[in-house]
Amino acid sequence: MNRQTACGAVVQLTLDTITAVRQATALSGGAGLPELIHTVLRCPLQRHPADVDHQALVSELFARAPGDIWAAWAGQRQPHTLTEADYCTAENGPASLCLLVERHHGAHSWELAPPAPRQLTAAWGTAA
Ligand SMILES: [Zn+2]
Ligand SMILES: [Zn+2]
Repeated sequence: MNRQTACGAVVQLTLDTITAVRQATALSGGAGLPELIHTVLRCPLQRHPADVDHQALVSELFARAPGDIWAAWAGQRQPHTLTEADYCTAENGPASLCLLVERHHGAHSWELAPPAPRQLTAAWGTAA
């Protein structure tokens, strides 16, 4: 199967944006439960034209309804919109759910080629 390429655009959140994520999270129903905030986002959508926003999961709300907090951003800029939304409801068989936001642009996550692994450290413990 010929898999599509993921966008992979990366944005590192500034402290101001992280504060905005915290504030958006606090507006969610059930606020007060622990949440996880991603401070570096990588767009998992299918590669898209510049007039389509990048979109990525920014805060996982752990069992709150309706879902998690997703950030949308353009180019290299900081996210301009934070949205509470569910994951895409499409599934590729019972064991394979789409990991993108609902109503996302482009192909579902299982149709996208995962990024190639990138070794970040030299192998250690192998010196003679
Ligand atoms: Zn993107
Ligand atoms: Zn999908």
